[in-house]
Amino acid sequence: MSLKPLRRLFGSPGQPDEGPAFMEIDGREVPVSYRRNARARRIIMRMDKQGQGIVLTVPEATSLSKAYDFAVSQRGWIWQRLQPEAACETPSLHGATITIRGVTHTIEKSQGRGMPVHIRDFPTPALMVRGDPQHLPRRITDFLKREAKADLERAALSYSRAMGVSFNQLTVRDTSTRWGSCSSNGTLSFSWRLVLAPSKVLDYVAAHEVAHLIEMNHGPGFWELVHRHCPHTDWSRNWLRKQGQSLHKLPF
Ligand SMILES: [Zn+2]
Repeated sequence: MSLKPLRRLFGSPGQPDEGPAFMEIDGREVPVSYRRNARARRIIMRMDKQGQGIVLTVPEATSLSKAYDFAVSQRGWIWQRLQPEAACETPSLHGATITIRGVTHTIEKSQGRGMPVHIRDFPTPALMVRGDPQHLPRRITDFLKREAKADLERAALSYSRAMGVSFNQLTVRDTSTRWGSCSSNGTLSFSWRLVLAPSKVLDYVAAHEVAHLIEMNHGPGFWELVHRHCPHTDWSRNWLRKQGQSLHKLPF
């Protein structure tokens, strides 16, 4: 017996068998979930209980991507059975507010194509979003993380030039206890939530961590360095002490 039939049975080795999690049908993101079933003889497709997504039952020997392709070929069947989007299940964020760089933005639904999440400054500050309400929290968070990283990179680069040091890497994460940290190998790490605070605050935290590349302590020399380069140090520390916790509250 050659090896070929076995390979076909178990999928090609080394390749993760992952089926796409969504199928786009007429601009709508339809969730796709997969159930492996050893006894299934063929791919079985059904709608989920709410009529919002597709559930595929997949025999052991069939790859998930093949099951997905099958579902794609049945788009018309799916489209006929899809229930209106479950606005009642996921509260719409439309009209909620979120503070970005210290400025209150209203979350508004945007029409058409283009970026799923973007900031509009005029006539009033708004965070424009589109797509399935179910996925908006993740999309908004991803967007804000990218914005945070860009702001922090800009600030950290400018302070490192001013202080005559350099850092190796800058990472952005969701930390609950510290706004920033600096490791001995020159990695700066920050909470992405700083992008929600007034810009001066993010700027100060960048100055603080870059100063640690020179002074790995909180002694008088360290504070002298931070104050010299960042005149809004006291204001920002005070803000973080009094209002820092508010950065952990989002409308979703
Ligand atoms: Zn420190």
